[in-house]
Amino acid sequence: MRIHPLTGEFALPADETAFLVHQLPQTRALLGYTLVFCTLFYVAFSISDLAALGYGPTYLKLCAARAVVAATAGTCAWLAYHRPLSLHATRIAACVADVVALACFMFIAVLRPDEFHWHAMSLGIMLIVIYLFIPNSFSNALVLAWGATAVFLALTVTYGRLTAADDVTMVMLLVLANAFGALAARRFNQVSREEYQARVQLQHTAARDHLTGCFNRRYLHETLMRPGQVRAAEHGGLVTVVLCDIDHFKRINDTYGHASGDAVLRSFADLLRRMTRDGVDSVVRYGGEEFLAILPGTDLEGGIHLAERLRTRFADTSVLTDDGTEHVRTTASFGVACADPAADGGHHVLRDLIAIADKLMYDAKRGGRDRVHARCACANDAAGPGRERPRRAGLVNRR
Ligand code: GH3
Ligand code: MG
Ligand code: MG
Repeated sequence: MRIHPLTGEFALPADETAFLVHQLPQTRALLGYTLVFCTLFYVAFSISDLAALGYGPTYLKLCAARAVVAATAGTCAWLAYHRPLSLHATRIAACVADVVALACFMFIAVLRPDEFHWHAMSLGIMLIVIYLFIPNSFSNALVLAWGATAVFLALTVTYGRLTAADDVTMVMLLVLANAFGALAARRFNQVSREEYQARVQLQHTAARDHLTGCFNRRYLHETLMRPGQVRAAEHGGLVTVVLCDIDHFKRINDTYGHASGDAVLRSFADLLRRMTRDGVDSVVRYGGEEFLAILPGTDLEGGIHLAERLRTRFADTSVLTDDGTEHVRTTASFGVACADPAADGGHHVLRDLIAIADKLMYDAKRGGRDRVHARCACANDAAGPGRERPRRAGLVNRR
């Protein structure tokens, strides 16, 4: 997760999108509040129109311009706050409100040509708001702010009645506002992303096993086993768990040392992760040399197929010992259990399935190791929940 040094945003678009999606509820609220607050000030400034021009047709034109800003910003604020706008739509709403406010501001400035120095000061404040308070990408804020500055300076030269010294001061003031605004926005972007980075890192560390990178037991209990967490319906149907235990693992430690044992654990975990679906299945380090795969939307046959592939691939895999002199080979035993996650309202389905898979895995050990034992625990199963199904997807012992 690298942060770009110029923009303060994540260099990789995928990281940036993940961050923005995470921030979206806050972004929408911020946009809503800021637009309402700015609109109130914008409308209140019509008092200055009255003071400068008195009541008359020009004043009414300016009031209409301010009303357009209020209507646009109010609509965008309402949309941002009350409607679940997407990331893209939130940015469009912010840009539309900015462009309308800036265009009306230019219109007001042209109709009050004697006060361009005051207008410059107002624009300076508006630029800071665009950079810091109206949530947008750094590039959007930059384009809007510098575009508005260029248009305003062109209007100053055309309509303003200022001295050359005033013009120079105005240019300096606006360049300063832009430079300060851009630097502050970049810093703000960077700080909020660093905070997010630390949070992601912390979540990752809390949820993962350090050695293998698989989810740990804490994540299994606190997140995966939460009621309703396994939504197999989204993936169509049942949920299957595969409990795997490496055979005679203690011997590997005793013969080749713990570092070589660790290499075998990593190799098994890599294999399991490669064979499961990213973002759908979950791979947990369940114990020392025990791993659990949770496969939503997978029936018993699917679970057996995975366990069989894993069994044969692992048995064929040789892992280099820590000192690089020998190759270690071993096997693993598997318990596969499948159920309908909606059966008991989804409350204990995983807990019960893991218990069944655990028992099956020990049956596989007793049966001679390097094998897969499987059973369906579906409520609508003919043999009843948790009972063997001898034929279709029944108790399957494979080598
Ligand atoms: P079985 O075939 O019956 O499963 O026998 P086993 O030797 O695999 O099982 P046992 O439970 O007797 O031994 C598991 C060993 O795993 C004991 C423990 O020292 C080792 N172990 C647990 N965690 C780690 C680890 O992180 N690294 C290493 N190298 N060894 C570990
Ligand atoms: Mg074990
Ligand atoms: Mg073992």
